[in-house]
Parts: sequence; structure tokens; C-alpha cells
Amino acid sequence: MSVAHVDDDEEIQNPGEVYHVQKFFDNEDIYMGQWAHNCPNGHGKYLWADGCMYVGEWYKGRTNGKGKFSWPCGATYEGQFKNGYLDGEGTYIGSSNDTYRGDWVYNMKHGKGARNYANGDHYEGHWRKGQPNGKGRYQWDNGDQYIGHWRRGKMNGNGTMIWANGNRYDGCWENGLPRGNGTFRWVDGSFYVGVWSKEPREQSATYYPSDSQTGGLDWDPQEVYLVSLSDCRISHGEDIYVFPSQKTLNWPCEGDGKENDLRLRKASVGGYSLGSESDLSFDCGSECLGSGRKIDEGMVAKESDMLRGYRRPHIIIKPTKKQGLTISKGHKNYELMLNLQLGIRHSVGRFAPATSLDLKATAFDLRDKMWTRFPPEGSKHTPPHQSCEFRWKDYCPLVFRTLRKLFKVDSADYMVSLCGNDALRELSSPGKSGSFFYLTNDDKYMIKTMKKSEVKVLIRMLPAYYNHVRAYENTLVTKFFGLHCVRMSGPGQKKVRFVIMGNLFCTEYAIHRRFDLKGSSHGRLTEKPESEIESTTTLKDLDLNFIFLLQKSWFHQFCSQVDQDCSFLEQERIMDYSLLVGIHFKEISHSGEPLNTRANASEVQPPIGNGDQTSEGAAPCLDVLVNTNWWASVRLGSSMPAQAELTVRRNNGESLLVGEPTGECYDVILVFGIIDILQDYDISKKLEHAYKSFHHDPTSISAVDPIQYSQRFRDFIFRIFSLDI
Ligand code: ATP
Repeated sequence: MSVAHVDDDEEIQNPGEVYHVQKFFDNEDIYMGQWAHNCPNGHGKYLWADGCMYVGEWYKGRTNGKGKFSWPCGATYEGQFKNGYLDGEGTYIGSSNDTYRGDWVYNMKHGKGARNYANGDHYEGHWRKGQPNGKGRYQWDNGDQYIGHWRRGKMNGNGTMIWANGNRYDGCWENGLPRGNGTFRWVDGSFYVGVWSKEPREQSATYYPSDSQTGGLDWDPQEVYLVSLSDCRISHGEDIYVFPSQKTLNWPCEGDGKENDLRLRKASVGGYSLGSESDLSFDCGSECLGSGRKIDEGMVAKESDMLRGYRRPHIIIKPTKKQGLTISKGHKNYELMLNLQLGIRHSVGRFAPATSLDLKATAFDLRDKMWTRFPPEGSKHTPPHQSCEFRWKDYCPLVFRTLRKLFKVDSADYMVSLCGNDALRELSSPGKSGSFFYLTNDDKYMIKTMKKSEVKVLIRMLPAYYNHVRAYENTLVTKFFGLHCVRMSGPGQKKVRFVIMGNLFCTEYAIHRRFDLKGSSHGRLTEKPESEIESTTTLKDLDLNFIFLLQKSWFHQFCSQVDQDCSFLEQERIMDYSLLVGIHFKEISHSGEPLNTRANASEVQPPIGNGDQTSEGAAPCLDVLVNTNWWASVRLGSSMPAQAELTVRRNNGESLLVGEPTGECYDVILVFGIIDILQDYDISKKLEHAYKSFHHDPTSISAVDPIQYSQRFRDFIFRIFSLDI
């Protein structure tokens, strides 16, 4: 790779090429190194005006890869970075020799790691979100040590405490204290075994003297709580006070929608005042273990506190509502609905020989398209009806019949849902395309009216779509079940084309929040205050205040499926699609308030019976024990257990796409899928792109070409979905 050198005041001719630059920013930051696409890319060194420094790899303006970050106090971190975060393996050495060597995720100690505290204490084991969690050994500098299980920075579960004098306690722990069955042994061989509790009246155990001992026990087990455990304090250690991800950067990073003018940007980009920040140190987050033994609460609280200055975020969950307005007699679309139902009944109910999944090319041919006339008095092929006369057309009926078979939709059930006695519900135009949306009364199917151009796209891509959904059982792309057109008789009546698809939100869980996510920032904010967000409000990218943590097997499946689906859409030159995500919060009260927030992931438990998605004021969703049907219903994107971690945007009017994680997690069930896949990159999009590029950062607008679109979409999705370790 050839790298051209460019001085600070020289203009870069081709932003796509890699240059070697020296940049002196107005806020006195300095960057020296490789530069492409208007930001650091490759190897480079960045010096913040407050004395912090990063030397290492960059990708699209973010610290990414191997690097070293140093603070003016002398502390350093050397290791892996990802997307601006300490992430991967790395070593932190504090100014007072407090060190941590191990795994990091999102700036937090997470995974396996060893920490030496400045006072000589040492912990080695598992970490979760900055705290000892899982198996680990803590060694105090006075020689005491604990080997066993931890939870959220406290001894919890089975573990052994060995004091420097040789005495030991083996048994159960809860919240940092012996609790439950356990044995205390003296070095001389005597032991005391039974049930332990800090409450003297709950303590019940038997003393067994050693051979050398005579006489009874002159010892109170509460001494363990009052004396033995009070000796050693766990050091807080030293904390990192400014993380790279929270440092001000002088260029826009992909997806954050910042303006591109490097020269004019000031240090206030991230809302962080660096000068004052560098003077800060943290000594919070400690708690007492027993009487006086201090335990390190770890980084979680502290790292969340890094976001201080922002109001603690919280979510308000409102009861779920039935969506849409029932189309009854008198509604302007009443006749249209009747016609749709008559037409679908005619198409689906028609006798058809058993279909094979191997379709011939002629099945996709449009030449056999036929209009069927539906006179009110009936005809040879159509029943009499109460609506006005209309004509009806089915597109590729055999293909959709086979798709329904592939998607395991029973024809009789399909007809009952769509053309049974229940009326459809019309949604109040949720999209900006002008399409109308209708829902069947049982919520299973969604009908969307379409433009002629969208029908053309669907027909064009139908063979590839068919092959894709056939090849990938877990595909996230919308399931299409039928494509039809109605033309009512009479002057001025237009054709209404519509597609029938699966309603993603048809699950046994009440959906409390929904997000339509594209990975772009332009126009992607609903601007609704939290109090006005209803369960049916479709929120967008800039409203997103969660990242989603998936269990390992789901996560890998998810990533590979998103890749497959995006490649398919890219090949079909499709763009503008969204990932529609519905969230069900598992711990919700009658009033819709969350009952509980969790800082740790827990095992997923299935619901009993059906959560009532459609009732006014959803029932409390209590999780209870195993319901085998539930497990069978869990599929990628449908009723998937996950954790949703609340994020905050350090808001200075900046349109950051992904906020900083707060450590506040909720047990959730997720449903998601890729929708709106019928927009191809036609001339009008090219024009729109050319026009908008004059006014906005071209990467922030949604109309980019399909390859860029898919790349940006994936990048974003892989930032908001991550592995729950
Ligand atoms: P836009 O042009 O604004 O992207 P559009 O008119 O093309 O919108 P869609 O993006 O297809 O419409 O859908 C708009 C909204 O309708 C979505 O944000 C979602 O709330 C709802 N919706 C669309 N498809 C589905 C589906 N399959 N299941 C559930 N809800 C859906």
C-alpha cells in the first residue's frame, strides 16, 4: 500500500485513499498517522490536549485492533480495542500499580482476568461487567484467601475461606457472607458443622472437638462474622477515569451522524469536558462485608458512573393495546376489505393439485396472469356477494401456494384468519411510503398495499426469494404469502395491489416496545418523550436506548443469518429495508411498570399460558416453570430470550447511533425480522441520493447504494446485538 504524506493545511484529493497525515485540531488535539475517509484509519497516534494518548490501530475513526492508551497520571491500557472501547484481551496498569490483565468487553472487565490491587490484594478468576462473578480466588495481602463462587462482586454460592492462621470455612455463601450449610475447621482438627447465618437465632450447628481437645466449645460462631471476616478489606483499586470511547473525537464516526467539518469542530463533541475529567478519581462503590470487611463493588457502578452528568435513564412501560381500527360498515375501505376477502377465498379455496417444492420456471412467469370478474350476482367461477362488482388478479399463485406450504401455513387456517367472519383492522399508516396496512383480527397476517414498482420488484426477485427462504429455514426476511390486485368497477377506480405477509409481532408475548432500525441517522428519530411512547409506537434508530445481548448459540446463528439475508438483499439490489425489533419485558406489573432491573443475565424461563398481547392492560407476565411447548416455539427472531441493556447517549444534540451501555439490564423476549424489502436501487433513488448528498453527510442518509446499505445495516446491527457472556 502506498501512503502519501499530507500536511495539515494540504487538501486531501481522494478521501478514499490512505494518507499519512499530521493534524492539529482547533481544540489542540493532535493526530499523526494513517488517514482515510476523513478520519484515522490504519496505524496512528492521537494526543488529546489533556495529556491522554492513544497509539495503535484505527478503523474508520475509532480505536480498533491493537493499541495502547495512556492517561496523564501514568496509567496505561495496552491490548485490544473494538469500536472505540477497551474490548478483547488487554492489560491495564494504574498509576499506583493497580493492574488488571485479562478480558474486557465495552470498557469493563468481563471474562477471565487477574487483578493486582495497589494494596497487595489479588483476584484471579471470572468477571462480569467489571465485577468478580463466577469462579475466582481472592487473596488478601495478609494471607487470607477465598476460593469459590462470586456474584456481582461478592462471595456467593459454594466457596472456601482460608484464614492466614489456618482456620477455614467451607460451605455456602450469600451476598458476601456464610449462609446455609457450612463447616468451620480449626487448624487443630476440631470442626463446627451445620447451618450458618448472620442472624444468631438461625445459626444451628454442632461442634466436634479434635482428639487433642477436651471440654466443650468456648466460641461463638458469630465471631466469624464479627471478627474473622472483618480483618481484610478488599481494595477498591484504581479506576480508569476517561475511556477512549468517551474521549472527544474530531471527526464523525460511521453511523453517528456527526458533521464532517474537521476544522470547525470543537472539543465538546462528546459532551465531555476533558480538562476537568482528567482530575477526577473514583473511590466509590465499596461496601462492607460483614462487619467492616470492605468488598470491591467492581467497576460496574463506577463505570456506569462514568456517564454521570446525565440523568439516570429509565424506561416507562405502558400497557399494551390492540392495534388499529376495525373496518366496519361505513368505513371508507369497507368494500375494499370485502373484496379482498372474497378474492382471497376464491384464490386459496380453489382446488389445486398437491404442489412440489421444486417449482418450474413457468410458475414464476407472469404471462398467465388472469383477471377474474366478481359480479355481485355471482358467475360460473365466483360466488354471489354483497359488495360492488370488482376484478381480481393473483400473481404467481402456484409460487405463493408453495411458499405457504414451505412456511407451514395450513390453507384452511389461512382462509379463516383472512376471510373468516372477523373484520380486518386498519393501522394508522405506520410507514412514510403512503402504504396502507391491515391486520387480521387474530394478528397473524398483515396486508400491505403496494406501489406498482414494488410489485415489479417482488415479481422480479421472486425466484431468488423462493430459493433463499427455501435454503434458510431461519431467514429473517419477511414471509410473503400472497400477492394480489383488486380493481373495483366504476369510473376513477384505481387498482389496489397488496401483499400478504406474516405479522412479526404475532407472539404470545405482549410487545412493549418496537423499533424499526435501518442503521442510518437521517430522519430516524420519532422525537417522542418517554411518557408518550405507547407499546404500538414504532421507534427508530435514534430513539434506540438498548443493546441486546444474546446467548452464545443464538448470537452466532443470528450473525450468520443476518449475513446471509443481507447478501441476498444486496444481490437483489434491495435497500431501505429495516430490522424490526419487538421487545417484551419479562418483569412488568399491571400498570406496565418494570418490577425489577437486573445487572446480571439469568437463565431464561418460559411463560405459563399465553401472555395477552392484545388486551387492554396486559396481564402481569410472570415467568414460571418449564412449559415444553414454549421451548419448541423459540426460533431465531421469534420469542427469543435475551437481555436488553439500557444505553444512554451523551447528548449534546449529537446524533450518536449507539449509546453507551449503562450496565442496567432487563430480561426480555425479542421478536425481530427484516421488513420492507421491496425497494430497489432504481433511478429515483440515485437521484435522491445525489440530491441529498449536497445537504447531508452521504453516509447518514438512508438512500445509499445496496452494497453500502447492506454494509452499514450490518455494521449497525452487529453493534446493537452482542454476545451475552
Ligand atoms: P417506510 O417507507 O417509512 O420505511 P413503509 O411505508 O415502506 O415505511 P414498512 O417499512 O414496510 O412501510 O412498515 C412500516 C411499519 O409497519 C414498520 O415500521 C412496522 O411498524 C410495521 N410493519 C411492517 N411490516 C411488518 C411486519 N411484517 N410485521 C409487523 N409489523 C410490520
